Amino acid sequence: MLKPLSLLLSLLFTSVVLAQQPGAPVDVLKYRFAITLTDANNVIKGKAAISTRVLKPVKQVVFDLVGKNTSGKGMQVTTVTENGRPLKFNQDSSKLFINTAALQGSTHVYNITYQGIPADGLIISTSKYGKRTFFGDNWPTRAHNWLPCVDDPADKASVEFAVTAPAKYTVVANGLKVLDKALPGGRRFTLWKETVKLPTKVMVIGVAEFAVAQAGTPENIPVSSYVFPEDKDVGLKAYAVAAEILPWYTKRIGPFPYRKLANVQSKTIFGGMENAGAIFYFEESVRDKGIEALMAHEIAHQWFGDAVSEKNWANLWLSEGLATYMTNLYLEGKYGVDSLNKRLIADRKVIFDFEKSYNAPVVDTAFKGPMMQLLNANAYQKGGWFLHMLRRRIGNKAFWTGIAAYYKQYSGGNANTNDLCYLMEKASGMKLSAFFNQWLRQAGHPILNVKWEYLPQNRQVVIHVNQMQVKPYQLNLEIMVDGKLYRADIKDVATNFTFPALHDKPVVKIDPNINLLATYNLEGGDTGK
Ligand SMILES: [Zn+2]
Repeated sequence: MLKPLSLLLSLLFTSVVLAQQPGAPVDVLKYRFAITLTDANNVIKGKAAISTRVLKPVKQVVFDLVGKNTSGKGMQVTTVTENGRPLKFNQDSSKLFINTAALQGSTHVYNITYQGIPADGLIISTSKYGKRTFFGDNWPTRAHNWLPCVDDPADKASVEFAVTAPAKYTVVANGLKVLDKALPGGRRFTLWKETVKLPTKVMVIGVAEFAVAQAGTPENIPVSSYVFPEDKDVGLKAYAVAAEILPWYTKRIGPFPYRKLANVQSKTIFGGMENAGAIFYFEESVRDKGIEALMAHEIAHQWFGDAVSEKNWANLWLSEGLATYMTNLYLEGKYGVDSLNKRLIADRKVIFDFEKSYNAPVVDTAFKGPMMQLLNANAYQKGGWFLHMLRRRIGNKAFWTGIAAYYKQYSGGNANTNDLCYLMEKASGMKLSAFFNQWLRQAGHPILNVKWEYLPQNRQVVIHVNQMQVKPYQLNLEIMVDGKLYRADIKDVATNFTFPALHDKPVVKIDPNINLLATYNLEGGDTGK
């Protein structure tokens, strides 16, 4: 996603959320959610059927679900059954406990009937035109405000949404629409099914009055736009570029993971939210100058974040860093290398500014703060910059081979940083773990002190590079002397290089092509006279 529209919103998320560790007692195979919405009030009525495989013997099956709180918001469960047989259950503020024993390896379908006003997760609100809207907004673990589930990116499952709502609304969700029919009483029933396994963070429905149009069918994937009717002209025009972005990625990464892509104007709290096959964008996105970059980011997430999900939140950069860099590469492909360089320079500044307030590695295993603070420059810009340096180190061909292999191997599942490293090593034939570790598992960046002198008797430039930070990096420093580019391998604290000069007043430039995430000062000149 792109970050929350307002920092104030992050105050909503003050609790510490821990990812479920390996060793979870159940694996959800499939969710079916029947949701009834009304205009009379904000109460939603839900029926969930959760197909579950038991991974170790349990006396109680537990799902995440926010219970009813003192302000009257939250979900109240009324019945739980299995095969028509009622099961005893109880709820606390964030869990549903089903008191039923289950054997290892057994599978069960638990049917849960519940209702309530969502405290979060399903945003019931009005568009800027005063029309009522309903939008799921689950990242990171807000799904269980309105859906009983295992709210963890590591437990992926297929999903169906069967929505009953007033007939004037159009319903969009993950997957393909398999049924859309009128019901008595001015209501409408819509069924969407996604058979590919999704993490709960990207399961979604959007229910509103929409103008809908197809932007194209690149690679046989229907790409459509859902915009508020009042924004029809501007919105359909703005979102049409999605049909150009999708095939750019399929050619390089691999097939689009889902059977359709809808781009939806919405009330998400984020700039954009990469819900699988149904991306939600902020309401004003239809007039936003950055819409192409925003769409490129969210569409890249369909491969990275949705299809290949991080194993845990410490590896969030695998979603956000990849989406950031894929966007930069798409824009480079369309508008040229200057556009890439401009973004890299801007991102580099954001990274260095961020480090001053939060000094932690990209793979942030010690993070204990509110989840929204994980949406930071480490996950986005530094993750993206790392991939840029990786591409420069191993070359374009190996980079794209590694990216495609990573998608192919982990699509529908989960991966971590070591999984990507292994496939990049395989693609390049190079050892890369030290390179991954220095950029991703330690905080900070190289600080270089570069001094040079000209030796006129030899027509040579001598360059002294000192690494000033605590631990030296292994890096490739590009140095340009009189227009000729050299790639200097550096691994020690102090390294000297000698290059031929072409002029009596040589011109020395450091990293002229924006390929190193480092700060440096450059001093030097003619010392031979
Ligand atoms: Zn993102």
